[in-house]
Amino acid sequence: SQKLGLYNIFKTEIRKNNLEYEVELIKTKCLGLCDLGPVVIVYPSDIVYCNIKKEDVTEIVKQHFLKDKVVDRLVYKEDKKSRINNLDELELFKRQKRIALKNCGKINPENIEEYIAFDGYFALSKILNERTKEDVIGIIEESGLRGRGGGGFKTGLKWRLASAEESNQKYVICNADEGDPGAFMDRSILEGDPHSVIEAMAICGFAIGASKGFIYVRAEYPLAVERLKIAIAQAYEKGVLGENIFEKGFDFDIEIRLGAGAFVCGEETALMQSIEGKRGIPMPKPPFPIKSGLWGKPTVINNVETLSSIPQIILNGPSWFKSIGTLESPGTKVFALGGKISNPGLIEIPMGTTLEEIIYEIGGGIPNGKAFKAVQTGGPSGGCIPKENLDTPIEYETLRELGSMMGSGGMIVMDEDNCMVDVARFFLDFTKDESCGKCPPCRIGTKRLLEILERLTLGHGEDGDIEKLEHLGEGIKKTALCGLGQTAPNPVLSTLRHFKDEYENHIYEKK
Ligand code: SF4
Repeated sequence: SQKLGLYNIFKTEIRKNNLEYEVELIKTKCLGLCDLGPVVIVYPSDIVYCNIKKEDVTEIVKQHFLKDKVVDRLVYKEDKKSRINNLDELELFKRQKRIALKNCGKINPENIEEYIAFDGYFALSKILNERTKEDVIGIIEESGLRGRGGGGFKTGLKWRLASAEESNQKYVICNADEGDPGAFMDRSILEGDPHSVIEAMAICGFAIGASKGFIYVRAEYPLAVERLKIAIAQAYEKGVLGENIFEKGFDFDIEIRLGAGAFVCGEETALMQSIEGKRGIPMPKPPFPIKSGLWGKPTVINNVETLSSIPQIILNGPSWFKSIGTLESPGTKVFALGGKISNPGLIEIPMGTTLEEIIYEIGGGIPNGKAFKAVQTGGPSGGCIPKENLDTPIEYETLRELGSMMGSGGMIVMDEDNCMVDVARFFLDFTKDESCGKCPPCRIGTKRLLEILERLTLGHGEDGDIEKLEHLGEGIKKTALCGLGQTAPNPVLSTLRHFKDEYENHIYEKK
């Protein structure tokens, strides 16, 4: 409401000063500057005003728009010596490489013309006019793009396998059921650049031979849903969705389906059950969705961030994409950097950037002179990484080797005051609540793990508790049916691996 208030106050001030024909006021999205908002950027000068309050609006309009003078008082200063005029000068933005977030904060997401002005729908037009399905799959394969939803499966291979299936109907699903605590990457893309996802789904549809797509998005993201609805309606109006797109005989429709807040519906088989109108519970795999997905038909499921990179890959070529990131994990990854960090926010960085660079160079280090203790990557399914491993480059495999994972991109920093047993308890409490209850290892196992963690944090730990946690955690990983259960013990096992002394202290220092 503060932002809405500011927007209306700006509107009134602009009108009062007869500037409506010279100044266009646009609501974009969260720029990822968590502790500097509300933010106003004035283009083309690129001046960034931070922490704006209602009473500042009159001054900005009077000084900047009428006299062309920057209101220095409202410009963020990092080192007190230099004024920050441009977002790229901010510590949080300096090392970023924006592909998925390319248009976020720059265009009006409710206006398809602005997306088109930034090469929007050009990739779709290009493939329909100049490329075959095989070409498109080849480009995505060659780019090395891997699923940004967590698993890191090769996107091109997924498309190729679905394309090879014979069927009278195939589907493309955009998984926008972002449920990790502290993660808001997909939400930012959908709110800031919904057309990039729509365009990518149509490209995928062409490549695999699908004529229908669904966007499964959380109902808790009302602005994202609203903007998707607007974007889809505009895409139909422009003829980039619907029948005979670009008069090339390709039809593609998209519908939105709302998720009702169940974390497990981010799991692809549960998600498809939910779209089909059933209770969203995971199903055994195989069969995999590319063979038998939605209503038993071949289905490609890609997450929001994966899709939003596709038009850029088509336009700039696979070599360009591969030149960013690492050999095994090309491109960039968006992270929601939070916790005990000086510059919290949304960052998109090349794969291969080290945790140290993220935390100290981009995140500005740990506030209040405290020492770094660990960083949790991968949300509740991930693990905690200690300072000894800060030089680890961010890649799917390196994080897995450390007992964590990429996940969808949540990154929570902890300092010396954090109790790692309590951190594990927090995440287990979340996954225990979100377990769908279908299989006993997850339904009962997460509850038992949580009971042990709770008694440890309350000072009632017993001899043998650590062994029980390890045994149970490994057992759940091996036997749970879906990814939620298989990864639920990660926070416990990774903290046991790197911070066992804290568990021991909880048991033995109390005795
Ligand atoms: Fe449900 Fe957990 Fe089993 Fe997955 S692992 S099916 S969430 S009970």
